Amino acid sequence: MFIITIDPDSCSGCDACADSCPAHLLKFNGEITEVVGDETECMGCESCVSVCPTGAASIMEM
Ligand code: SF4
Ligand code: SF4
Repeated sequence: MFIITIDPDSCSGCDACADSCPAHLLKFNGEITEVVGDETECMGCESCVSVCPTGAASIMEM
């Protein structure tokens, strides 16, 4: 299982991570992007991490 973290202080709200997530777990809320889906569906592909221009997105395997 993976824990997804979006640092609100670093997130610019560009939404690139949401666009890249094959499991549709991330969504822009008007200011920042948040985890909105079922985190247990995260496959750890790291797409969200690699496309994030500010380093705000991270995942950790539990
Ligand atoms: S690691 Fe992959 S599946 Fe998990 S939130 Fe990021 S883009 Fe989505
Ligand atoms: S890619 Fe990074 S900066 Fe852009 S919305 Fe996602 S977490 Fe925020």
